[in-house]
Amino acid sequence: MYKRFLMFISLVFAVCFIAGCTPAAIISPGNAQATPIFIEVPTSLPTKEPDTPAPTVHATPVLISPVPTEVISFSPTPEIMVTPELTATPGSDTDQNTKKRIALTFDDGPARGSTDRILDTLELYGQKATFFVIGERVDMYPEQVMRAYSLGCEIGNHTYTHPLLPNLTDDEIMEEINSTFDSLLRLGIESNLYRPPGGRMDEDNRILRLIGRPCILWSVDTRDWESRDKDAVIEAVLSNVRDGDIVLMHDLYASTADAVEYLIPELLNRGFELVTISELYGTKGIDLDTSIYRHAR
Ligand code: ZN
Repeated sequence: MYKRFLMFISLVFAVCFIAGCTPAAIISPGNAQATPIFIEVPTSLPTKEPDTPAPTVHATPVLISPVPTEVISFSPTPEIMVTPELTATPGSDTDQNTKKRIALTFDDGPARGSTDRILDTLELYGQKATFFVIGERVDMYPEQVMRAYSLGCEIGNHTYTHPLLPNLTDDEIMEEINSTFDSLLRLGIESNLYRPPGGRMDEDNRILRLIGRPCILWSVDTRDWESRDKDAVIEAVLSNVRDGDIVLMHDLYASTADAVEYLIPELLNRGFELVTISELYGTKGIDLDTSIYRHAR
């Protein structure tokens, strides 16, 4: 009688053991991937990071709970990973269009000291800017212009002696512009952009038609020449800057170089990439022509 009871108990344990193993077998990774119910994906999932745990693992809690470690094998199933967003390669059109880009521009240089420090900061963070140089200063300080160009920065024309263009005759305007392009060409630097001193153009577009190249103005004015104050420059940029902006500064002042040392890492932290004027428009598919440009929004 006692032996029969033992056999009965053993039989009951054996049945329980088999029954208890069954769920674990069902949630093995191979079965999970083969079972359609586990690849149900909410429509919001493609917008999440690839390593975000998939919420669908909770769709069958009874099967998953006995073996918690198996849960991990469900979330990165190939079916979930393959979506257009998640498989987009870096540098694709989608990536290019969603990045925030701005162009820092520096006028009136080059100058010893302040231009060097701004270039040091750009080089340190692997970023680029555009320098609208004065031709007579290019002839005085060619090393700074050469270095900026070698770092991938863009060089624009800010006239040879910085006069207000509306006050000049046609011949005087072209002399100011061409002399600076000649100074740059002697350094092996080709440029197509210009910025008129003071941003001053004329109402009938005489200057624009005469020069026949892209005229680059700005959308964020730091007024660094006026304040000569690092904190004021930082505030002017950070409180105003948006994707596509062109920021005006001057590389003549130590206070501007100080501001740039803070601004560049801070702008990178805020998700901005610092590019040249040509890159700013190029990534948006805009060909620069004989027009006035203030931003690329
Ligand atoms: Zn200027």
